[in-house]
Amino acid sequence: MNTELTRLTAAELAAKIHSREVSAVEVARAHLDRIAAVDGGADQGVHAFLHVAADAALASATLVDEALGVGSAPASPLAGVPLALKDVFTTLDMPTTAGSRILEGWRPPYDATVTRRLRAAAITILGKTNMDEFAMGSSTEYSAYGPTRNPWDTSRVPGGSGGGSASALAAFEAPLAVGTDTGGSIRQPAAFTGTVGVKPTYGGVSRYGLIACASSLDQAGPCARTVLDAALLHEVIAGHDPLDSTSIDRPVPAVVDAARVGAAGDLSGIRIGIVRQLGGEGYQPGVQSCFDAALRMLEKLGAELIEVNCPHFEYGLAAYYLILPSEVSSNLARFDAMRYGLRVQSGFEESAEQVMAATREAGFGPEVKRRIMLGTYALSSGYYEAYYGQAQKVRTLISRDFAAAFEQADVLVSPTAPTTAFPIGDKVDDPLAMYLNDLATIPANLAGTAAMSVPSGLAEEGLPAGLQVMAPVMGEAVMYRVAAAFEAARDADQGGPVIHRVPESEVRA
Ligand code: GLN
Repeated sequence: MNTELTRLTAAELAAKIHSREVSAVEVARAHLDRIAAVDGGADQGVHAFLHVAADAALASATLVDEALGVGSAPASPLAGVPLALKDVFTTLDMPTTAGSRILEGWRPPYDATVTRRLRAAAITILGKTNMDEFAMGSSTEYSAYGPTRNPWDTSRVPGGSGGGSASALAAFEAPLAVGTDTGGSIRQPAAFTGTVGVKPTYGGVSRYGLIACASSLDQAGPCARTVLDAALLHEVIAGHDPLDSTSIDRPVPAVVDAARVGAAGDLSGIRIGIVRQLGGEGYQPGVQSCFDAALRMLEKLGAELIEVNCPHFEYGLAAYYLILPSEVSSNLARFDAMRYGLRVQSGFEESAEQVMAATREAGFGPEVKRRIMLGTYALSSGYYEAYYGQAQKVRTLISRDFAAAFEQADVLVSPTAPTTAFPIGDKVDDPLAMYLNDLATIPANLAGTAAMSVPSGLAEEGLPAGLQVMAPVMGEAVMYRVAAAFEAARDADQGGPVIHRVPESEVRA
């Protein structure tokens, strides 16, 4: 097994593939071997993948090698680099389950725009990654196919809902992944696994072919082990799509340039706002000290630190857990036993309603049912104004908090999540404890602003913590610049990029 190749970043792999030092096929093979060695399955190993598409991956890599062999320019800066795709994006040639039984065996009739763009960029799609059912959860334990384990300590969760994508990166099964972030599902798993995760501006990446969780919040984004790699992937998947009516028709921010500028390490002239409401009480001491150390580093890089006040962020969690279930209760109505996947039917005399009820009873897990019921209640007549209407007002106030803060600061920072990765089983029966994971990530979803997580250091028990950097709508360039500058300073401080270097002994199948 060529483990050396799996240790490289996407940028390094691309350079080697495009100069023909190694073939795309060798690179794909190295990652497929790594998956075979560490991924295991539902009851052992990392279990980042629900489906591995070895043949398709090798076929795609072969095409890259053939094109380079006849002197063609690479199809994109990431041509031939492997990637793990969250199982919430439709794929013509692979199953798409969204982590749910109700979609078991379903073959989508079309590719999501993100999938199409990855294929057009000649990126090697290795397979589909595990997730909490329909992207609801913060630990990947609500997957109907068994939990993903955190490569740093396989008795712990990788965060969620995109724990599969994040673990695949941390376990060196893939250098790139795509996730979705409705309330933190890219950023919190990034923090828990020592990787980089980006939630672009709402509308920045097409949602066409992305199985909807909450449509006014869902955003697809890049995941990687370095800021530059995330930026390279960002430029592949972002950009206007006429098939998504919420897609922004403006040029994609120049995030690759910004990441390169940032890595040079000068943040003079950049104003960084520390959000008073995010951090401190309720945050693990180790997470908080990683954050404090990050602030000192940012200051050393020349940034000006100021404190900003976002008083309505404190109501974000409550508003989110009314808005999200409301949208979920409507979006998930399409799983009616007629159109997709599972159908539970015991005889021919049953009515459509009976088949639908039996299918939804068997096909949805407890968290999904809980949210459908909550959302149906919040939208019911007599309660609509008191719950859903009120939550929408809070949402407006949070957007105003952001607007005021961005008058004073170019980016805002906070810890990404209040804790490091917790043990599997710890919060699975306590929905409120689970929801508290999203305290710091939810405001950016409610306001539609950009935000990302970059590893900030190692906290309690040697587990990674994340620094969240938030930017205004379409403000990705400055966000990547700050994150890249911080990443470079952090690595220099540690004598090398040790944050995402999981010891081999930790990843046992
Ligand atoms: N953990 C949050 C939730 O359960 C966020 C999910 C997400 O971003 N998809 O809703």
